[in-house]
Amino acid sequence: MNKFLVAQCPRCGEIQAFYSTYKMKLCNRCGTKFSIDKCKKFGIYENHKLASEIVKKLKYTYKDGQYSYS
Ligand SMILES: [Zn+2]
Repeated sequence: MNKFLVAQCPRCGEIQAFYSTYKMKLCNRCGTKFSIDKCKKFGIYENHKLASEIVKKLKYTYKDGQYSYS
């Protein structure tokens, strides 16, 4: 079963979840194609539901230009 990666677009900062097998990703928000190797990654999760919850949590904790777990 495919796992999901939670990562951040290097251009606009949008956090998004997608298959961990991807090498490149098209940002959901700004449309920039970015390399998974070079972007900021928050973790790999078992399923999309779990990854989505992490995305929500990270967005909720966004503060002073930084995301953090709490
Ligand atoms: Zn973006």
